[in-house]
Amino acid sequence: MKRKKLRLGRIIWVLICIMVLIYLGNFILAFNYDSFRLKQLNYSKIAIEEIKKNKLEDYIIAKKKYSKTLEKALTTKQFIAKNIDLYYSLDYRDDDNFITNINSLADIGYDKTKIILIFKHLNSEEIEALTKLPLTNNIEQYIVFDYFKVDNLERYLNYRNKNKNMELEKIITHVNIGLDYPYYGKITYVDDYDKITVLTNKYRQLPETFVPKNLVEIDKAYAPQTFQLTKIAGEAFEKMANDMKKNDLHIQVVSAYRSFAYQANLYNKYVAQDGKTKAETYSARPGHSEHQTGLAIDISGNNYAFNDFDKSKEYQWIKDNAHLYGYIIRYPKGKENITGYQYEPWHLRYVGVDIATYIYNHKITFDEYYVKFLEQKK
Ligand SMILES: [Zn+2]
Repeated sequence: MKRKKLRLGRIIWVLICIMVLIYLGNFILAFNYDSFRLKQLNYSKIAIEEIKKNKLEDYIIAKKKYSKTLEKALTTKQFIAKNIDLYYSLDYRDDDNFITNINSLADIGYDKTKIILIFKHLNSEEIEALTKLPLTNNIEQYIVFDYFKVDNLERYLNYRNKNKNMELEKIITHVNIGLDYPYYGKITYVDDYDKITVLTNKYRQLPETFVPKNLVEIDKAYAPQTFQLTKIAGEAFEKMANDMKKNDLHIQVVSAYRSFAYQANLYNKYVAQDGKTKAETYSARPGHSEHQTGLAIDISGNNYAFNDFDKSKEYQWIKDNAHLYGYIIRYPKGKENITGYQYEPWHLRYVGVDIATYIYNHKITFDEYYVKFLEQKK
């Protein structure tokens, strides 16, 4: 009897031990199973520790996919639980501010859809700049434009407020040109003055000392006195003038390259003559004249007065053919508010055939072309 009791007691003990072991075993197995699954998904040891610390193993295992963005957030200790969906939605970017930028955009109040679009359209530097600005309600409308500049965002918003019916594309283009400021109200110093794509206008100033390289004299057949253009512009002009001559059309150069000093005299003369407001509709302040680039030329037909040039058949030909030689009518009719100058049918500018053709086909100004396609984003 006594022996039997003893045996029964032992059996109960053994059973209890087995149960405890099974329980512990299960627990350890389950614990390791999560780690195993997370490891299978490709998460690093550090990331797995963070996942467990945040009790996210079920959520992440259920997702059944690895996110390098999430991994980065976890391993750099920048993980914020409420942004976990964002980490999954954004493709990884190899840059130091990547996770900070995601977290900051979410903090500012941008929702997931907008944050995804922001990452689609902007680079890391731009996104960082955006995180320094307050929430913009319709940011998604702006960032789709290649030439959207984060630095100009506040100006776009203000300009849009003042021009409620203007298309957004125009809002952005105009502000990038500088048109939200008065003429000469905000000056950029031009540094690409040696290129045929240089833009100077009432917001963009050439250096006083700038003289174009390769100035050549224009063939006396088309110039009553000595006029110069850069080689490429001069050759294109002569080719055009020659072709016109074959069609019995005749043009003469009225003005071409002008130095800073020459322009200063001219501008002062016109101001004295017509007053500043009037003079500035046709004459540039020194440093702002296209004639200083050696790429601009004023012409007239042989039989027509300078101001009536657009009534001549020479002009009709130029209007439809100049782009084939790389020239544009730089200050067209109806674009006075963009160029800042009166309509000047006689003022041609060399920009190369491709750009001239685009401008001709799309009926835009070089100012618009420049900020859309040539200007660096930053
Ligand atoms: Zn001119």
